[in-house]
Amino acid sequence: MHIARLNNAPELFYSLQGEGVSCGSPAVFLRLAGCNLACRWCDTKYSWGAGLYLTPAELAPRIAALCPPRLIITGGEPLLQQDELGELLALLPAELPIEVETNGTLSPPAELRERVTQWNVSPKLPHAGNAAKQALRPEVLAAFAELPNAWFKLVVRGEEDWPAIAALGLPRERLLLMPCAETRAVLEQRRPAIAQMCLRHGVRLGERLHLVLWDTCKGV
Ligand code: SF4
Repeated sequence: MHIARLNNAPELFYSLQGEGVSCGSPAVFLRLAGCNLACRWCDTKYSWGAGLYLTPAELAPRIAALCPPRLIITGGEPLLQQDELGELLALLPAELPIEVETNGTLSPPAELRERVTQWNVSPKLPHAGNAAKQALRPEVLAAFAELPNAWFKLVVRGEEDWPAIAALGLPRERLLLMPCAETRAVLEQRRPAIAQMCLRHGVRLGERLHLVLWDTCKGV
């Protein structure tokens, strides 16, 4: 599998889930390399390349050695490697909770639906700078919305984003809005307005705990 390269090593580390409905949960993170989008504010552009390659059989013991209470597969876009991802998950303990972070452009593969505990789907709004047809796939988002364990977290700039969000037709009870921010300072500046936006529309405010705790540090 192609794994993001950070400090010349595969990006595999123990931390706290920084976003989404399980925010704050201790977990091991595996960041896969490669993405089919190119968001202008992406905070992991280093993951876009080929990264480092390990087979699922080589990777599984490295994950097990970290004794994960939960495993979060992130990227990049992990579903670009869905075949090998399925192989990897089959090698891990059946009771290990697994979250997959995805940008919502590739349908949840049937082979992974049974094994994945939680899908964290993050469609990218127009301000991310991708071609709309490529970034927003209504049929894919509808397939995720049918899964009760799929949650949707959107990076937003402000109220001007609401029409585009509403047009996605996502289940509001599983929708979180997160301030668009690449630093702790910007997050704190923008959070109050996004909180008001969440109150107006009856959706959850999503935290970005990694910025609160570690600002722009990577691999923590
Ligand atoms: S989908 Fe995620 S990893 Fe890919 S470019 Fe956008 S923010 Fe970065």
